[in-house]
Amino acid sequence: MAEALGHPRFGYYRKALALGAAGDFTTAPEISQMFGELLGAWLAERWMAMGRPSSVRLVELGPGRGTLLADALRATRGVAGFHAALDLHLVEISERLRAAQATALAGLAPTWHDRLDDVPDGPLLLIANEFFDALPVRQFVCTAQGWIERMVGLAGDGETLRLALAPGRTPFAAALPEAVPGRQAELCEAGLALAAAIGARLRRDGGWALIIDYGFDATSGLSLQAVRQHRGSDILDRPGETDLSAHVDFTGLARATGMPAFGPAGQGDFLRRVGIIQRAEALKARATLSQRQSIDAALARLIDPDQMGTLFRVLAVGNTPSSEPPGFSDSFPSTT
Ligand code: SAH
Repeated sequence: MAEALGHPRFGYYRKALALGAAGDFTTAPEISQMFGELLGAWLAERWMAMGRPSSVRLVELGPGRGTLLADALRATRGVAGFHAALDLHLVEISERLRAAQATALAGLAPTWHDRLDDVPDGPLLLIANEFFDALPVRQFVCTAQGWIERMVGLAGDGETLRLALAPGRTPFAAALPEAVPGRQAELCEAGLALAAAIGARLRRDGGWALIIDYGFDATSGLSLQAVRQHRGSDILDRPGETDLSAHVDFTGLARATGMPAFGPAGQGDFLRRVGIIQRAEALKARATLSQRQSIDAALARLIDPDQMGTLFRVLAVGNTPSSEPPGFSDSFPSTT
């Protein structure tokens, strides 16, 4: 998975312009400007909760086409002092997407990095939408002998890729659920290590991280999937030309940060609590009939339980004492 997505020459995220109607998949910020606008309001509110520091690193992991931040920053132009405090850092491995981000964020002078470790220290506001699902997972199957890793190997012809169980018990058993024959599990070491690094930065320098992705609360079987041109595909088919992603283990991520965590909330609940219905109404008040219809369609896609509303989750991690971030309980007043 790491090679298929990240290989410097042949990796999927190095070559393809994965996102959008012409690409392989669509993401929430590409569905509607409302998504980025509301996350912008969330970030500005957290900056105020941090005591309006005069300098904060605004970091996005895997910014795609830069749409989310462009919408977030346009929506928060009126927040006194906020933009002046922001120092924008983008963690992105795709050269083509870096170019798209430069266009979308022209004038905001972002700095690009290959890894979070390269982002300078300092108070942090971090956002990651559909980033952790692209980090490589290991897969395990529990047999009568215990947990065994499922790996990629070659078929008898010496050319065709196939999945097979590695010989012997895996040394990763301690990180997996209780061994019950028939159980299956995934482990995303890169995601857990990144969560630990984010937690360490937040603990040291202060700030907040908002992680949005599709995933589960507790370990639940095998989820690795392949998508090409908006259709499901075999995970071993055409590596480097196919998107691979896996469900994010939010419980594991939250624990790995070692910080107070809020959520995961369903994306639908989160967006409703931060005011997406009111935002949609405000946009519709100035729209044509066909624009109103597309706003309603986008709203449904983002929040309906049978669309992105339940499968996608939102997790916030941060350390501003006694201050609950918006979006995680119904009692909190909306930010709009
Ligand atoms: N957040 C965007 C894009 C999601 S797609 C959106 O919501 O539209 C995943 C993004 O992460 C892409 O920008 C991809 O190029 C980037 N990416 C994937 N793996 C990465 C890695 N290991 N390091 C840095 N960026 C990565």
